[in-house]
Amino acid sequence: MKRIFSGIKPTGHLTLGNYLGAVRQWVEVDQHQADALFSVVDLHALTVEHDPGRVRRLSRQAATLLLAAGLDPERCTLFVQSHVDEHARLSYLMECVATDGEMRRMIQYKEKSVRARDAGEGVRLSLLTYPALMAADILAYDTDEVPVGEDQTQHVELARDLAVRFNQRYEPVFTVPKATNPKVAARVMDLQDPTSKMGKSHENGSGIVYLLDDEATTRRKIMRAVTDSAQEVVYDRAASPGVTNLLDVLAASTGGDPEVLAGAYTSYGALKKDTADAVVELLRPLRERHAEIAADPAYVDGVLRRGAERARGMARPVVDRAYRAIGLLPPV
Ligand code: ATP
Ligand code: MG
Repeated sequence: MKRIFSGIKPTGHLTLGNYLGAVRQWVEVDQHQADALFSVVDLHALTVEHDPGRVRRLSRQAATLLLAAGLDPERCTLFVQSHVDEHARLSYLMECVATDGEMRRMIQYKEKSVRARDAGEGVRLSLLTYPALMAADILAYDTDEVPVGEDQTQHVELARDLAVRFNQRYEPVFTVPKATNPKVAARVMDLQDPTSKMGKSHENGSGIVYLLDDEATTRRKIMRAVTDSAQEVVYDRAASPGVTNLLDVLAASTGGDPEVLAGAYTSYGALKKDTADAVVELLRPLRERHAEIAADPAYVDGVLRRGAERARGMARPVVDRAYRAIGLLPPV
């Protein structure tokens, strides 16, 4: 059975982008077809300015939302990254295999370091080395596939390069992973700034649909989405990014094809209204289930405890093998 690993950072409230780009695939497909691990990757949340209490709250909320979205702890392994020491242990070896130049080429590093500088904050070294930890997350579990939104594909490709390099230079320890993306809505754009990705850590929330927004807020945000000056509904990301984004969201929410849908609309108003209806319907069950699960924190704790135990059991032997292969003396 193939092995799947993916993660989500507790850097903000989960968004429609996270759901359509990653989580829905985990719930509907991956946990049924593979031995799948999903992690709240909290160490990655420390790479940017953060409030410690908020990171803890968001970690719990992310786990609760993943369960509410339909991850089934009987079918998959759900855990918090920092509960499994192997991630940090293996990350160091990845730093010893990767190069400085490779890290600096990562688009996420370029974007987030600019944001940190603009905010008058220092750029944390961990923001640069982030892909080494992400490679460790993936490689520690003999992962075959990593289902992610398009923005994370570059990091998965780096993990793949590092696995191949380690295997050739030392011993064949790692399974070589590959990224998978959803067919539609692999990159949901910000509703107010449709040339940039919807991201949960972005400051201005008016262009972001959060999974826990109430219905009225969700509708308002979609109805106020920036469209284009032309009045035509065309599916063309370069010429018409706002409208194209709405078509992607509508298609992903209803199971349609965005280009076909484009032909069915003559006004932006109708497109926005149908998109708002579809998103509200899509998210309603998740919101209801979230309220139930959040009322039972002991249940969530139990899931995370069992998840971390299972994950540790899988990662330990792989990381121990890597330690020996790279030249470290096993404990005597
Ligand atoms: P941050 O702003 O802190 O980077 P994020 O919203 O980008 O947060 P991540 O935790 O970085 O979320 O990513 C979790 C998963 O969601 C990844 O698989 C990522 O590719 C996917 N994802 C994030 N944003 C989008 C988006 N706008 N469209 C599609 N997929 C997305
Ligand atoms: Mg991100």
